[in-house]
Amino acid sequence: MFRSAADLYDYLEISQENRKKLLLQHENFPVRVTRAYAARIRKNDIHDPLFLQVAPQRAELETLPGYHTEPLEESDYVIEPGVLQKYQGRALLVTTGACAIHCRYCFRRNFPYQEHRLNQQRWQQQIGNLAGDPGIREVILSGGDPLMLSNQALADMIGHVEQLSQVSTLRLHTRLPIVLPTRIDQGLLDTLAASSLDIVVVIHSNHANELDDSVAKALRDLALVSTAMLNQAVLLADVNDNVKALTELNQRYFSEGVLPYYLHLLDKVSGTHQFAVPVQRAKALVEALRQQLPGYLVPKLVTEAPGHASKLPL
Ligand SMILES: *Cc1c(COP(=O)(O)O)cnc(C)c1O
Ligand code: SF4
Repeated sequence: MFRSAADLYDYLEISQENRKKLLLQHENFPVRVTRAYAARIRKNDIHDPLFLQVAPQRAELETLPGYHTEPLEESDYVIEPGVLQKYQGRALLVTTGACAIHCRYCFRRNFPYQEHRLNQQRWQQQIGNLAGDPGIREVILSGGDPLMLSNQALADMIGHVEQLSQVSTLRLHTRLPIVLPTRIDQGLLDTLAASSLDIVVVIHSNHANELDDSVAKALRDLALVSTAMLNQAVLLADVNDNVKALTELNQRYFSEGVLPYYLHLLDKVSGTHQFAVPVQRAKALVEALRQQLPGYLVPKLVTEAPGHASKLPL
């Protein structure tokens, strides 16, 4: 695990000249990259689509008009571990604030509490509260990344969800199969396989280069124990904002049993403007995909807006 820019740049053999274009540290949102992910980055290439996702750029220090430290512009919107947010029929549980990677475009980047964990009593109580809500069919474990929890903690959580007779589906929102594929171990697979719930795994990958043989194995293993495998991506300037990259992304993941789900527009969080893709261009890209690809390989272009009952389709 790389926890400093200097270590990452050394490993990637970034030249002194190239380092001048990058940041060496970032107090609020330190560099974090797994070795498995760093191994897929080309050496000394500061335009590599994976490098751009994890390396702090000088542009992060600027805040442009229209960008905010609080992404969804709600002063009480705090990504506090444990807070349940509800869309109709679905309850989303923020199980942990921790991630194995720090994606520079992440809307959580300005919050200092990456490491908090939801204590057992609290999530038991929260899942328990759902017992009185007959409308909930699906529980979504989100974060941070829920697979940062131990297999035992996950098994306990899933056991509690299974007690809710109205819930039929458990969804995991996770980037771990991509950034730390060895996390998809036998204990996790056994836990998921043993569950009576339909399991939906929603991974997060933005570029076909993120998929190597170890990721493919993790995905194939997960596919055996889940009902559906979906990918949500974020549309990111210079990373995947072209037809070729998006086509390859969706085709390569399809070969491993994963269908595209959402393509998110960037949340306008300060320090991320260098990733922004204008909405008209985003729409044109998805339209181009629609003309070239089977319908099931075309993601839904969406954005988040405060106070809405769903993601907003564009
Ligand atoms: C995105 C999200 C969900 C899941 O929405 P789907 O459209 O079903 O993927 C659920 N709850 C909250 C609060 C969300 O932000
Ligand atoms: S894995 Fe997801 S939650 Fe974690 S830093 Fe990346 S985008 Fe943010």
